Amino acid sequence: MSKTAKVRLFVDLPLIEGQPVTFAEEQSRYLVSVMRLTVNDEVLLFNGRDGEFAAVLTAVGKKNVQAEVCRQTRPFAAGEDIWLLFAPVKKDRTDYIIEKATELGVKKIIPVITRHTITDRVRTERFAAQAAEAAEQSRRLDVPQIGEAIRLETLLSGWEPDRRLFFMDESGRGLPARQAFAAYRGASAVLVGPEGGFSDEELADLRSKPFAVAVSLGPLILRAETAVAASLSLWQAVGGHWDGEEK
Ligand code: SAH
Repeated sequence: MSKTAKVRLFVDLPLIEGQPVTFAEEQSRYLVSVMRLTVNDEVLLFNGRDGEFAAVLTAVGKKNVQAEVCRQTRPFAAGEDIWLLFAPVKKDRTDYIIEKATELGVKKIIPVITRHTITDRVRTERFAAQAAEAAEQSRRLDVPQIGEAIRLETLLSGWEPDRRLFFMDESGRGLPARQAFAAYRGASAVLVGPEGGFSDEELADLRSKPFAVAVSLGPLILRAETAVAASLSLWQAVGGHWDGEEK
């Protein structure tokens, strides 16, 4: 008897009923050596554009597993139009940020280099792999896009003004988050600063932009990764679609 479909994988391949799929080495190893799947076992696949499909394994080698796509299990539906802009922090805390932002439904994640950003190397490839893994687990139908790291001033000078930029401002001068998010329902981005906070010049630059809104997350100082989870949760609850609609 084949196992019920539990394994869910992102593949960057077209998914069409009746078509074969060949898994890359790492996913093959995961299916065989970790999940111990074999021929006739079922997996769920998604590719970020065609929805989710059940597929049956047809050939199983340690480094090369093949399957056949059998039926669509969910049609594709795009998530909310919310981006996360964050200043990279230490490795494990950045890992947490990528994972939680993916679970909280962001469409795009952009690492932003600010005056007080401490990290020297931004591993966008690692971020992409982590985002794919979190998407597999959270039952998302897409994987957040990972943008190239960009300096804050460059980001601001090239910003498309019809996307609202909510920047998390721990000075207490921002609008309460609920109020800020309730007042605008369109394309949005949330920006969280580094452990050292934004510099005075950065705050002045942000405040001067007509598309930017300063947001307060309450009287306590949150760590950057907490501010990410709190701001995205509130955005989803107030401005997004945490309202029981079918995803
Ligand atoms: N260095 C600062 C704290 C920075 S916290 C200090 O010690 O004063 C890291 C980031 O989290 C901040 O840049 C801000 O974007 C966000 N943040 C933390 N607490 C916040 C709050 N209460 N309201 C809004 N943003 C907050």
